[in-house]
Amino acid sequence: MSFVKGLRCKECGKGYEKLPVHVCEYCFGPLEVDYDYEAIQKVVSRKSIQDGPPSMWRYRPFMPIDGDPKVGLNTGYTPLIRAKNLGKALGLKELYIKNDSVNHPTFSFKDRVVAVAVTKAIEMGFDTLSCASTGNLANSVAAHAAEAGLKSCIFIPDGLESGKILGTLIYGSKLIAVNGSYDDVNRLCSEVAATHNWAFVNINIRPYYGDGSKSYGYEIAEQLGWKTPDNVVVPVAGSSLITKIWRAFNEFKDLGLIDKVTSKIFAAQATGCSPVTTAIKNGSEMITPVKPNTIAKSIAIGNPADGYYGIKTTKISGGWGEDINDEEVVEGMRLLAETEGVFTETAGGVTVGVTKKLIEQGRIKPDESTVICITGNGLKTLEALEGQFEMPTVIQPNLKEFEEHYSSHVAV
Ligand SMILES: *Cc1c(COP(=O)(O)O)cnc(C)c1O
Ligand SMILES: [Zn+2]
Repeated sequence: MSFVKGLRCKECGKGYEKLPVHVCEYCFGPLEVDYDYEAIQKVVSRKSIQDGPPSMWRYRPFMPIDGDPKVGLNTGYTPLIRAKNLGKALGLKELYIKNDSVNHPTFSFKDRVVAVAVTKAIEMGFDTLSCASTGNLANSVAAHAAEAGLKSCIFIPDGLESGKILGTLIYGSKLIAVNGSYDDVNRLCSEVAATHNWAFVNINIRPYYGDGSKSYGYEIAEQLGWKTPDNVVVPVAGSSLITKIWRAFNEFKDLGLIDKVTSKIFAAQATGCSPVTTAIKNGSEMITPVKPNTIAKSIAIGNPADGYYGIKTTKISGGWGEDINDEEVVEGMRLLAETEGVFTETAGGVTVGVTKKLIEQGRIKPDESTVICITGNGLKTLEALEGQFEMPTVIQPNLKEFEEHYSSHVAV
């Protein structure tokens, strides 16, 4: 059953059929999915959602597919953790982390968008999947292509972490590393799309893909007991996730599933690639593209496709944007691991570090409820930790040596 009427231009409102198109041919605005909310309202309630599967598909009527999901049936419904220790360290009474570092099957929030995009690609009859990726999308598209039995050809910038590269190749994908930044890769993909009839999950089927991210927002609201938090801190690359969390909260409100939306949405970036937070801090609605230079490679997009809407989301919600340097990114990763036992990748270090900064600035207050978005897994970005720790001393396998070693290293 489909609740999708078609696509619609976000800027001029012109309607389009359900096709693999993403740009308005009149005004070049981005297209988005146009839902039949009256029909959704008839079938959706808190109970219908709670009775659904423990995955993102408990929100099936809000997803832009026509039939049943074809892949990623176990994706989503990740833990929302009450982070008491981290809250104490940061001086917050009510802190949560929404933990997509354990998302199924490739340990990042990208599994949500890809489950939708690949289902859509199958519905549209494509036999090959493709994407321009900063790493996590590559992993997820490759895994879901394998699950679906489809071919995949994936494009990444040169110089990604080995976890992202091997974590793509393992699924049998064709992987192309491009000498350039993500933005060069994306441009190349748009050219390849003109000659190859492939489903580029974040290009020609982007309108459908993006709505997979809404499930992350629905889950936050449901897991908090059908309400939204005072603050949400979101790592930003192309600005899809940040705009879709806001969309999700507002859809829930419009359908009466929650009473109100009072959340402030905050954008988090690494200073080495901060076109969105820089614009926010400058009071501008326009993105000035940058050349990325940061260890937070998964969110290093210098010319974000939805950057304008990301900025608007922070503004409308009363939020803000901040960025931190690479040293602070690693500090953020360590702080989350040491306080909560959660090992996130560089993007998660960005969100934790930016949250700390926003608290210091007084933009997030101690008695407010705050959700930090943890979107990826630390085992994929081990390179970021190189030189951070003293490697273990090797001892002979006898008690005497252990005791000598232990007593000389334990502070009295
Ligand atoms: C892609 C990605 C993001 C941000 O995604 P956008 O929707 O493009 O802003 C955040 N965190 C991680 C780990 C990612 O891989
Ligand atoms: Zn238009």
